[in-house]
Amino acid sequence: MKTLQAPSSPPPFMDSFIAIRDSMQFTPNGPRARLTGRHRAITTRYAVLEDSVALNTLSTITPSTYLSPLKDDFEVTYTGNSQALRTLKKRIRGVQAAGVLTVCPMCKISLPRTFDHYFPLGTFPEFAVHPLNLVPSCNTCNSKKLEAWLNENGDRICLYFYSDSVPQVPFIRCALTLPQLGGHNVGVTFLLERPVGLRLARWDPIVRHFTRLGLIDRYNEIGNDELSEVFSSARDFLDNGGPRRRVRGFIRSAAVRFADVHGASYWRTELRRQVAMSPALFTWLGR
Ligand SMILES: [Zn+2]
Repeated sequence: MKTLQAPSSPPPFMDSFIAIRDSMQFTPNGPRARLTGRHRAITTRYAVLEDSVALNTLSTITPSTYLSPLKDDFEVTYTGNSQALRTLKKRIRGVQAAGVLTVCPMCKISLPRTFDHYFPLGTFPEFAVHPLNLVPSCNTCNSKKLEAWLNENGDRICLYFYSDSVPQVPFIRCALTLPQLGGHNVGVTFLLERPVGLRLARWDPIVRHFTRLGLIDRYNEIGNDELSEVFSSARDFLDNGGPRRRVRGFIRSAAVRFADVHGASYWRTELRRQVAMSPALFTWLGR
């Protein structure tokens, strides 16, 4: 898994909040007026979030009792889907490296069509449109994470891909089930494996993230479809004149291409690595 590029400042992150707030219709005592009235407190909270990201002390931020009564107003800044918010979303997507957003950063399975509020909206409404709190995400991850924030020990439940580092060694593994005699019903089972020497302090957050989002189960559900994909591209390679001695290299090169974009621990990469080295490969290919 690779991390994301955090949106940068300047311009100050408050500028996008102001643009979104001021695009709301003004009515005396309406949301825009109420948010404008708390401008200074919001600015302070923005600085708190930005410092905590810079210092990697995210879990120490506590909710604001002063701003939480404006929860509904803050929610409108996000759900109102103003042009200013769409511009901000575009800016967040625009700074990511090519190919990274072809899959959701949290699961690496499907397209990230939504944004997750890393600091949950229900607990930290004032961060509804803070750029560092909007993480591209797929619908499934968004609905599985929901309001998850800290566990009973005060540890963050999900990884924060704008600053958390993920080990650049494989930790998603898969096992291929050999087919029955004469059959092609190969199966795949994924698992997490702590890299040798990786401290628990770095490993536990990964396990919490995978558990909350049910990632291993989700990989297992789609593993066989992905296998079919690998096999059919290998058969195409052979059918188009590719030599048998090169087919393992062909599969491996796809694994490397995926790893370049999505990191060393990417389930599609791991699947291809295992297929490429399996003694049963040509049986599965039926060639
Ligand atoms: Zn996802």
